[in-house]
Amino acid sequence: MSSIVKTDMQKWMDKTEVSSYQNFINGKWVSSSSGETYALYHSANYEQTIGEFPKSTKEDVDQAVKAAHTAFKAWTATPGPERGAILNEFANLLEKNKEEMAFRLSAEQGKPLNESLGEVGRAVKEARYGAGEAFRIEGETLPGERGNVWNSTIRQSTGVIAAIAPWNFPVVTPVRKIIPALAFGCTVVYKPASVTPWTSILLMELLSEAGVPAGVVNLIIGSGSEAGNPLIEHPLVKGISFTGSSELGKKINGSAGQRLVKTQLELGGKNPAVVLDYKNPQEVAAQIVSAAFACSGQRCTSISRVVVTKDKKEELTKALVEETKKLVVGPAWQEDANVGPLINKSHLESVQGYVKSAKEEGARLLYGGEILKEGEFASGAYMVPAIFDQVSPEMKVAKEEIFGPVLIVLEVEDAKEALEVANGVQYGLAAAIFTDQLQEAFQFAEQAEAGMVHVNHGTASAAHLPFGGIKQSGAGAFSIGHTNIEFYTNVKSVYFQY
Ligand code: NAP
Ligand code: MG
Repeated sequence: MSSIVKTDMQKWMDKTEVSSYQNFINGKWVSSSSGETYALYHSANYEQTIGEFPKSTKEDVDQAVKAAHTAFKAWTATPGPERGAILNEFANLLEKNKEEMAFRLSAEQGKPLNESLGEVGRAVKEARYGAGEAFRIEGETLPGERGNVWNSTIRQSTGVIAAIAPWNFPVVTPVRKIIPALAFGCTVVYKPASVTPWTSILLMELLSEAGVPAGVVNLIIGSGSEAGNPLIEHPLVKGISFTGSSELGKKINGSAGQRLVKTQLELGGKNPAVVLDYKNPQEVAAQIVSAAFACSGQRCTSISRVVVTKDKKEELTKALVEETKKLVVGPAWQEDANVGPLINKSHLESVQGYVKSAKEEGARLLYGGEILKEGEFASGAYMVPAIFDQVSPEMKVAKEEIFGPVLIVLEVEDAKEALEVANGVQYGLAAAIFTDQLQEAFQFAEQAEAGMVHVNHGTASAAHLPFGGIKQSGAGAFSIGHTNIEFYTNVKSVYFQY
């Protein structure tokens, strides 16, 4: 990417008016009934205000859900190919507006501009796949028990979907929920994380421009407790697609269970990379470091544990440190930066708590970990990515999700112990293995307790494969891939006698 784009981001920020944004309900921009707003600041420049955003309440949520409920009847009756055409148009508009979307994303979230452009590009791809789902709402025809009976199943839209997202991927996460929901004939009320609402304003504008009718998609901005909670508890909501922490996911499942409402939960992870053998340690280290520290380690699928056999440990660890040293920490618009700030200071404190606890429990800090405060770093939550070795599986840092740039190295005797350690946590999202031995690779693919396994491949997912986790990492139908049909539709069995 040219440096002009990066310079332009700041120029563009400077000339962008600080506006007061609203909720999007029934095709209109409306203020919150609370009359209250909060200010959002640039994540790498606390002096720059991005805008004022509504502090929404239960009343706003109620209006939005009712609008989605009313719009459902006509939208679900719209032929799939027609819905798909509108959603394809949205994908085209998103692609056309990718720079502005990436600028907003970097400003509110902090990730380097090329990562933001990557996220928007990925959202375009997922939107295209999702739009195609509108053509693939298939049922089955089965033999009847008697000669004059046809048996078939059809798929019908679930209804109003509550979509709730965290702050790490504020563009691709809502696209991943909204587009398949609409493709399968559902309507949506979306609540972004209150720290990353700016991109969602543009998403609504583009959806509307593409021809999504009023009420089919609605946006409510506000906190989890004031806006999120009434949304997941609303009696007209028929499905909840939630991405966030495991703790909250379990709470949401509990409350949804009371009403027998469907959930699709994408939760935390503690993803291992098992390393058994390789031709070139540097190549493996580069893949691991990139999967560990992209988005400053604030990815649910970040590699956060390296599990390596004794014979390779020293060589690999050295390579990991060398690769990590090549990373440049800096603000989004800096030409060579590839690690941005953490989302905010309170999250930085939480990550630093793990750095401290690792040291206290006897792990050895091999590299990084320090907070950066001087000069430009003062107006963002920056730290140097950290690598620890001499970590044992019982340590807090080896068990809990850190959600920041901290990578730990666990040493094991052999492949058998590696699998045990890899599986020995409460999470089961993504897992990687590096080996040229087919047998080890297949065994791991089969036995790793994870929703997604990567062989000689970092933990990056594709825009059309099922995405999700097991154990404490998720529940309900996987997203992204065709598995979404299980969440966004219900089955109906039909018997025809002739
Ligand atoms: P979080 O604290 O669980 O929040 C997620 C969303 O839920 C936010 O929009 C939040 O709103 C909202 N919320 C909070 N309380 C709520 C309530 N009582 N009812 C309804 N909604 C409520 O997660 P986070 O800190 O934003 O994100 C980090 C977590 O997300 C990590 O655990 C990470 O692993 C997980 N994650 C998982 C995936 C995946 O696909 N598996 C992807 C990305 C992230 P406010 O923040 O506005 O209060
Ligand atoms: Mg949180």
